[in-house]
Formats: sequence, structure tokens, C-alpha cells
Amino acid sequence: MHTRDYQALDRAHYLHPFTDFKALGEEGSRIIERAEGVYIHDSEGNRILDGMAGLWCVNLGYGREELVAAATEQMRQLPYYNSFFKTAHPPAVKLAETLCRLAPAHVNHVFFTGSGSEANDTVLRMVRRYWALKGQPDKQWVIGRKNAYHGSTVAGVSLGGMAPMHAQGGPLVPKIAHVRQPYWFGEGRSGEGRTAGQDPEAFGRECAAALEAKIQELGEENVAAFIAEPVQGAGGAIIPPESYWPAVKAVLAKYDILLVVDEVICGFGRLGEWFGSVHYGLEPDLMPIAKGLSSGYLPIGGVLVGDRVAETLIEEGGEFFHGFTYSGHPVCAAVAQRNLELLEAEGLVDRVRDEIGPYLASRWKALEAHPLVGEARSLGLIGALELVDPATGERFAESRGVGTLCRDLCFAGGLVMRSVGDTMIISPPLVISRDEIDELIDKARAALDATLARLAEPESDPRPDPQEESPA
Ligand code: PMP
Repeated sequence: MHTRDYQALDRAHYLHPFTDFKALGEEGSRIIERAEGVYIHDSEGNRILDGMAGLWCVNLGYGREELVAAATEQMRQLPYYNSFFKTAHPPAVKLAETLCRLAPAHVNHVFFTGSGSEANDTVLRMVRRYWALKGQPDKQWVIGRKNAYHGSTVAGVSLGGMAPMHAQGGPLVPKIAHVRQPYWFGEGRSGEGRTAGQDPEAFGRECAAALEAKIQELGEENVAAFIAEPVQGAGGAIIPPESYWPAVKAVLAKYDILLVVDEVICGFGRLGEWFGSVHYGLEPDLMPIAKGLSSGYLPIGGVLVGDRVAETLIEEGGEFFHGFTYSGHPVCAAVAQRNLELLEAEGLVDRVRDEIGPYLASRWKALEAHPLVGEARSLGLIGALELVDPATGERFAESRGVGTLCRDLCFAGGLVMRSVGDTMIISPPLVISRDEIDELIDKARAALDATLARLAEPESDPRPDPQEESPA
């Protein structure tokens, strides 16, 4: 089969996630055939540095035989069994123990799911159930943030704050509200309204104050939980000002409201700690996890449950009518277990914090000198570049599609860098070497140069590709 044969079948039968089906059909998919380390290979023989670790998940990198062996052994031993009716199996039990050992001390239980979206569905059911058991059934509102991503199931979409997703397939789950995001470059630096031009730390505090105002508006007695990512991933690798999380913590401490920290991207080393919550000193009641849990080799997610909620569900709850056929799937659990063992044995999480994260930060920050870059930020192994018009230092009109252009030029130059509007994002595998970071930076700079050159062409339509980047 050749590329065009795959593309023809793809066009004929495959409805892709987050895709304009018609536009993709006209253009044709890039077919990825294999991968090793931090590189993917397409069917045209191109070797491409995967600056996104797949979809923020291949933390250990591609081609790890240890994970292949773990899956093979477990498939032979017990390819499937459920844990619904008073049964369990060794892989899920061991993984539960490992996760609780790695999690903050007050977290000692886990509920397994098949994905991050299912984890957030579980979160919604758990927090409402918790308050009902506590004799406060009116505590049902969950507060999330605008431009947050928490998944694509109905609860995931509702908890998330992605306007284009909200506009399709509603109505959404009731009693979910959204407050502003701590996105200084987008909304604090030069945004509209009274925060315009604010200093980042004051802006961070103001975002936390918006949460408090929303709690007061809804009434503390009606609010079940606040949900947020430590660093917003799909929203644009939005690293909050240092003032934000301490101020949010202080707000939540004033009211009796659960904290849900979505660790689907930030968990398992991305920010240089096992969990993003540890980096920010948070003590969440619930932590949805997925992606890096298995380095994406097999689908598995879960919710880490803090003692306060777990004890109530266990002691007072009776049966919790919730679960999935693949909750704690033995093969996925065995692979996740091996993945965590390897992350530990190779010291990869500390390496992100102490060595490779700081190295990326120094090289990445230097891209700010490029005329197209208004801000280069990173934390651990997540980073973003904000593209701006060199003539004004302000953002381009959205309709120009400059981020999409830059993304396509990156791909053409052998680098996967994603675009969210005009924000370019990276989230490479944790195993990336210094040399590979150098290559990533060189390719990113080349793509920025090529973007600039294209924008300078008279009367050019900068957007070569009708495919917008998806919010997931
Ligand atoms: N939460 C966050 C923070 C995510 O980034 C994602 C996926 N991008 C999800 C939840 C949903 O995970 P999944 O795609 O596995 O359902």
C-alpha cells in the first residue's frame, strides 16, 4: 500500500477526531507508520521530531521494548477480566498501590477509567455523590475555567471551557460555571478591559478573585468543586503567574469546596514532579490522570482520590453505580505499571526538574529574540511561543492563520509543533536529549524564519491549509 492508497481509504471511511472531515478529505492525511525515541516516520520516508510526545502522552518515548514485553506477558497470562463483581487481578492492584505511593500523602485510592475524559466524567459523578452523602445535596455546581480542556465526553466538554465545543451538540451538563483563565499574555498583557497592561502577579490575583466572586454569586452552599489544570495544556500551554495558585488556594480554604486538579497532561513528570499539584504545592481532593500514565502505549486513565472523599465514599456510600468495562484493564495496567517503574528507575522526573527542563528553558527563552515571538515561556518540558506582528508587537488578526502556517512549516521542516491560534506549543517526550533539544530549537527557528518570509510575500494568503488546529 502506498500513501495515496491509505489516504483514499482514510477519506472513504475514517471520521477523525477534531477534524473538518471534508477539508481533510480534500487534502489527505499524513500517514505515520512507525516511531522510535523522539522521532516519528511517515509513509513518505520523512523522519520528524515529535515535539508533542504524540498528544502530550509518550513520556518515555517511542519503541520501548520493556512496555511491549509487559503487554505481551500480560496478554498471555490474562488478557481481560473486569473488577466489577468482587474480583480483581494483580496488574490493577499493583498499579493502584504504585500510584498511591507516588501521589501526595493524603491520596490513597484510585478509580480506573479508560481515558482522561472518562476520568473527568467520574470526577463529576464523584463530587456530586460526595456532597449528597455529606447531607448537602445542593452542592452541585462545579466551577471550571474558560478555555480549559477536560475531555470530549459530555461531562468533559461541559467541565471544559472551550467555546467552539460548547457551541456543538448541547445542551451541556447543568450547573457548571466557568471563570476567567490566568492567561497573562492573552488577557493581562494587552487584553481588553480593566486588566489591560497589568503586572502578571496582580493579574494572577485578579483571576483568583474572579473565582471567589463566582463562588459568592452561586452561593458557597451550592458549589461542589473547582476544577483546573496546573498548567493549561490544550488551551495554549498557559503557565499561570506565580501569584495565581497560592491565591486560589487561599480562596478555596475560605469555603468548603473540593479542589479537582486535572493532571492528565501535567502528571507523570511533565512539570518536573510526579504531579503538577506537587510543583504548585496543591492538595487536591481529586486528580484525574491518563496520557503519561502509560506513556500512551495503551489507553488507561483514572481518578486519584484524596482521603476526605475516599473515606466518605467507602464508609457512607454503599454501592457507587459507576464503572467501565475497561476500568483497570489488566494489559493496560501492566503496561502503566512498567511505565512508572521505568520513569522511576531512569530518574526521568527529576531529570526534567533539574537538568533537561532548565536546559530547554534556556534555549527556548532565546527564541524571544526572534521578531515573530512576543513571549517564549516554559516549565519543565512544556513550552509555548506567542506569535506577534513584528511591526507592532501585537497579535495578528486571527483570520490570518499565522499559527496554522507556522505549524505547517514546522511539519514540513521535520518538527511537530502544535498551534493553538497563534500560540505555538511543545511538549516533547521526557527522554529527549540535549542534542535533540538543540535540533528542536533549530527547526523551530527555521520555521519562524520561513513564516516571517511567507508573511512578507506581497498579497500572499498565509494560510495554506484549511485545517484548524483542534482544541484537544
Ligand atoms: N484533561 C486534559 C487536561 C487533557 O489534556 C485531556 C486530553 N487532551 C483530557 C482531559 C481528555 O483525555 P482523553 O483524550 O484521554 O479523553
